[in-house]
Amino acid sequence: MNDNAAHPLKLFNSLTRQMEEFAPVHPGEARVYTCGPTVYNYQHIGNMRAYIFADLLGRTLRWKGYRLTHIINITDVGHLTSDADAGDDKMEKAAAQSGKSAWDIAKYYTDAYWQDIDRLNIRQPAKWAIATDHVEEMIAFAKSIADKHCYELESGLYFDTSTVPHYGQLARANTDEGESRIDPVAGKRNQTDFAIWRKTPAGETRQMEWDSPWGKGAPGWHLECSQMSNKYLGEQFDIHTGGIDHREIHHPNEIAQNQAHSCTEHSGANIWMHNNFLIDRAGKMSKSSGDFLRLQVLIDRGFHPLAYRLLCLQAHYRSELEFSWDNLAAALTRLKRIVIGVERLREKADGQTAPIEHPALMQLRDKFDAALSEDLNSSKGLPLLEELLTLKKLPADQRMNLLSEMDSVFGLELDSLKRDQLRVQPADAKIDKSTIEAKLDQRQQAKSEKDFATADAIRDELIAHGVELMDGDPLRWDWKIEI
Ligand code: AMP
Ligand code: ZN
Repeated sequence: MNDNAAHPLKLFNSLTRQMEEFAPVHPGEARVYTCGPTVYNYQHIGNMRAYIFADLLGRTLRWKGYRLTHIINITDVGHLTSDADAGDDKMEKAAAQSGKSAWDIAKYYTDAYWQDIDRLNIRQPAKWAIATDHVEEMIAFAKSIADKHCYELESGLYFDTSTVPHYGQLARANTDEGESRIDPVAGKRNQTDFAIWRKTPAGETRQMEWDSPWGKGAPGWHLECSQMSNKYLGEQFDIHTGGIDHREIHHPNEIAQNQAHSCTEHSGANIWMHNNFLIDRAGKMSKSSGDFLRLQVLIDRGFHPLAYRLLCLQAHYRSELEFSWDNLAAALTRLKRIVIGVERLREKADGQTAPIEHPALMQLRDKFDAALSEDLNSSKGLPLLEELLTLKKLPADQRMNLLSEMDSVFGLELDSLKRDQLRVQPADAKIDKSTIEAKLDQRQQAKSEKDFATADAIRDELIAHGVELMDGDPLRWDWKIEI
């Protein structure tokens, strides 16, 4: 354990709807499973909020001294257009619509997702667990629980949710907090029963299908996560994360399978954590609308992806967060100010770091620890980083050390991010950076020669190209492109 992380880590457990102290199954270790993307399309920035949250959790656990094993899965088969096992397979549907193979689609969107992960400085997990690599093991998992807990219908093998204790406890399905949006399938014993194996309908061939004791078909989405979390993290592991929509159907179904498989009441993970939604003015973001916000759209508008990361960190992960371009621009300005402060500090420290011994810095670190230990309160932690940058009288080498500790949790790349990278430069800007810089040099020259007519002409030309000059800007920014 890290001596400097004295506050016990408390996390909100969706299962008990309470804050709980983190007590790992294996002392000193933290095993985390995060429900990953369904790769039939690009991820929208709301989806990426789920991974920024999981990354914040992983980084906090590491900062607090736990050895982390983090698994994120890739759902490249089995997720239907409805969470509750009705509708078409999302992958097969995308394949039919695009004329490409389901395998090609999965590869293309997995790569696009990994690119976004990288751009947001989300740490690589110990393993990306790819569903189609595990189908034989999923069949074995299903076989082991089939006799006691499942029954066969024409469309597949179904899990009988009445065979496990407290089904739906996570969703609070029987209370006002729960939702009942389970689609009916003829022959199901209980409304909440779900397919763990989906048979290929007679006379059809699916692009992704496997032989099984229940006929050709594909695993159910819920089965994937139960099997892969069990394989890589064990029957009882520490934390399972996902977006809040998973609290209603996907995770209760995983829990039911885990209980069946382990022949216990244990849900599989001790703590189930859920991030709230990113919303926009129209409501929850969704991919069905065709035109949706993905990270590339933000980048094309000229925003650095880490401004989006900061936007997410500014809110508590359990609060809804509204996306707007203004909010993003404000986060970018905040990031610029931080980066400028870091540049000054780096100059002062001159490459040196030293153990944190100054009482005021130790106190600041303690406050930071308290904030993050209180259910990952990054919104409370960020101002402490900013405070650190203002403490100019305290030793720069020690401040540098604390800064890098804090940023190991926030992941804002403060050790390398440059002011210049944060310039807003839309992809369709009519003028590029080097041309602007050259014009500014000419303008400077003209001014020094007291040739104000030329200086003004250059300014007007830049304005005509959408470049705003910002002489005397407190952020020491000399220009920006209008967006
Ligand atoms: P999917 O690719 O649809 O399986 O979603 C990937 C992850 O994003 C899941 O953990 C979802 O719960 C989560 N998610 C979906 N929409 C949003 C949103 N608007 N805001 C935050 N998380 C979301
Ligand atoms: Zn999952």
